[in-house]
Amino acid sequence: MTPRRNARATVRPARAGRPTRGRRRALGQHFLRDEGIARRIVELLRPGLSDLVVEIGPGEGALTGHLAASAGRLVALEVDPGLAARLRERFAGTPHVEILEADAIRHDYAALPGLRPDPAGRVLVVGNLPYSVGTAILASLLTAGPAIARVAPMEMALMLQREVAERVAAAPGSRTYGSLSVLSQMAAEVRVAFSVSPGAFRPPPQVDSAVIHLRALPAPPVAVADPGGFRTVVLAAFSQRRKTLANALASGLRLPVGRLKDVLAATGIDPARRAETLSLAEFARLAEALPGA
Ligand code: SAM
Repeated sequence: MTPRRNARATVRPARAGRPTRGRRRALGQHFLRDEGIARRIVELLRPGLSDLVVEIGPGEGALTGHLAASAGRLVALEVDPGLAARLRERFAGTPHVEILEADAIRHDYAALPGLRPDPAGRVLVVGNLPYSVGTAILASLLTAGPAIARVAPMEMALMLQREVAERVAAAPGSRTYGSLSVLSQMAAEVRVAFSVSPGAFRPPPQVDSAVIHLRALPAPPVAVADPGGFRTVVLAAFSQRRKTLANALASGLRLPVGRLKDVLAATGIDPARRAETLSLAEFARLAEALPGA
């Protein structure tokens, strides 16, 4: 899965001082006010003294204090310079806590295993992600995840808009299963841990949220020789959800529908099925049968 670099994912250069209301909205600044929810998020990962915790978007620090209390080392990435400065002040006397003014979409996550306080420790990522760039941040983490998981166990507890969280974790055959589900589940085991209502935040967002728990996989659950080709086939298959698989692929890959029907028949997949019914293994078989797609 590669990070989305669309207009919504773009974070404008940070400016000093208190951000305007528009910028606060663009940065998804809905701060968690429910202590119980903060504890439940941290409880999902149970950080210990051997673990590195990376917090994405610490904001006013609703989760940061809980994480700092148990993690061996905590690195927090906050794009808003004012919030980062305030947290730096708060944790000035806490050497195992580092607050970085950084854009979590573009951060170099590959270096994380080397920052663990103990080589036996885990890499844990926690965040109440800003809605506007939540999937872009998730994509960056999942792109780095497999290489990290080959060196250290990596788990994440991430709060997202509920609809997005459900799409990430959806199983084949469900209404919400799509390319985000397939590409995420090639990089991590995912489950929705719990939902959170707007009243838990100030200001309250207009949508519900949910926390997902992910375990990064060192290798995809099904082998694919060409990850780029696999991604192209998955995106094409879901490009027109109401069409049959053969028609959606023909239009998405710009190939004759007759050829797609032959390829699908050869891989044992009914061309009349819809993309949302295919398992990861079936997508892998299909991608193998369409080299250079
Ligand atoms: N963790 C805090 C909480 O739960 O109250 C704040 C969560 S708030 C939904 C999202 C936070 O992410 C804000 O502090 C915002 O400034 C920050 N943020 C937005 N875009 C970011 C980015 N690209 N990289 C790092 N932080 C970002």
